[in-house]
Amino acid sequence: MSKNESLFARAQKTIPGGVNSPVRAFRAVGGTPRFIVHGEGSRIWDADGREYLDFVGSWGPLVLGHADREVVAAVREAAGRGLSFGAPTEPETEMAERLVRLVPGLELVRLVSSGTEATMSALRLARGATGRSRIVKFEGCYHGHADSLLVKAGSGALTLGHPSSAGVTPETAAQTLVLDYNDVAGLDAAFHEWGDSIACIIVEPVAGNMNLIAPRPGFLQRIREHCTRHGAVLIFDEVMTGFRVGLRGAQQLYGVQADLVTLGKIIGGGMPLGAFGGRRDIMGKIAPLGPVYQAGTLSGNPLAVAAGLATLKKLEAPGFYERLAETARTLCDGLVSAARKRGIAFSAQSVVGMFGLYFRAVPPSTYAEVMQCNKEAFNRFFHAMLERGVYLAPSAYEAGFVSAAHSEADIAATIAAADAAFGSMS
Ligand SMILES: *Cc1c(COP(=O)(O)O)cnc(C)c1O
Repeated sequence: MSKNESLFARAQKTIPGGVNSPVRAFRAVGGTPRFIVHGEGSRIWDADGREYLDFVGSWGPLVLGHADREVVAAVREAAGRGLSFGAPTEPETEMAERLVRLVPGLELVRLVSSGTEATMSALRLARGATGRSRIVKFEGCYHGHADSLLVKAGSGALTLGHPSSAGVTPETAAQTLVLDYNDVAGLDAAFHEWGDSIACIIVEPVAGNMNLIAPRPGFLQRIREHCTRHGAVLIFDEVMTGFRVGLRGAQQLYGVQADLVTLGKIIGGGMPLGAFGGRRDIMGKIAPLGPVYQAGTLSGNPLAVAAGLATLKKLEAPGFYERLAETARTLCDGLVSAARKRGIAFSAQSVVGMFGLYFRAVPPSTYAEVMQCNKEAFNRFFHAMLERGVYLAPSAYEAGFVSAAHSEADIAATIAAADAAFGSMS
């Protein structure tokens, strides 16, 4: 038995499925999850001593790569001063000031400890600020695991949502309207029917939790128009896209300003940190300023804030995102030509520092199209790459991430591995 196998067997005795977040269990692709011992730059090492080029990056936060020297030093220094106080600290204000300076429309911002907490709080705030109950989300978008967001579309157009998890009550799900991503006609119909009872729309401006789907031109603009006309709050969930698709996120990239923005992942630089913020009149409804309650014992934790600040500082280096985008683009182009050579139906695309791989001739632009990708082919590719030292997300329905630590040589090695992997499949 390998060390990974024995660690997994042992973990399953005391942790449900052996993991603390389900996708880590490799259920979608089969096989044994790798237990990671350490990471450095673009690489991780597992319990059996095997080295991998990592394109998961802790699911997005590690835009600088693993164990960035300056980030680790900042955390060490903060740890020496104390781990938590439950009282305000100056670096929290520094973080808020930096976010307000960089994120369009951010006038007030509150720090929390995860993306889930950020979206859950933003929803409560949107409902509290509008006095309305109904929320709108899009099928295939993931916004963390709060009850009212674990909802899928019912059968037929314009039906109210059904729970996508046991334990979410039908009453909760019924308050959530689930629409198709990139479907403007569906959006128009929903606002026609429910417009003045909608508290908010929450959307991933680039969908990164159903593989990667880019917004069609005009889709985000249309959401903005409907929200403005009907007094609904527009929430951009930039937990993944924030500081991933640019210093000013998807709002800047697509020229659409939300009312509230949720952040996570990169802003904590690998530590647990989230944030939600936006228009002053809406954020002014949060306690202690207003009647919408929200709190956290470890919110704005000094270590998380130190890691986040050290990370964000490095992202302002000139050309940072141009280089990140070039890395992802080179990877995607290389994978596509390797697959073409073998006659495999495969496509790939990137949005700055995130990418999607599809076993399908062209990139999908709807949830239904993502579901048409060849999942068995992905699973074979995943294991063929893993054997060759490339660690991809263990599911066909996840986006991939590059970091500033991925060198040209790393990308060339990944494309060479893919060439061999595709060869083993055809
Ligand atoms: C990861 C993610 C979340 C949830 O963040 P957690 O820190 O895992 O709770 C929410 N929204 C989006 C878009 C995400 O990618």
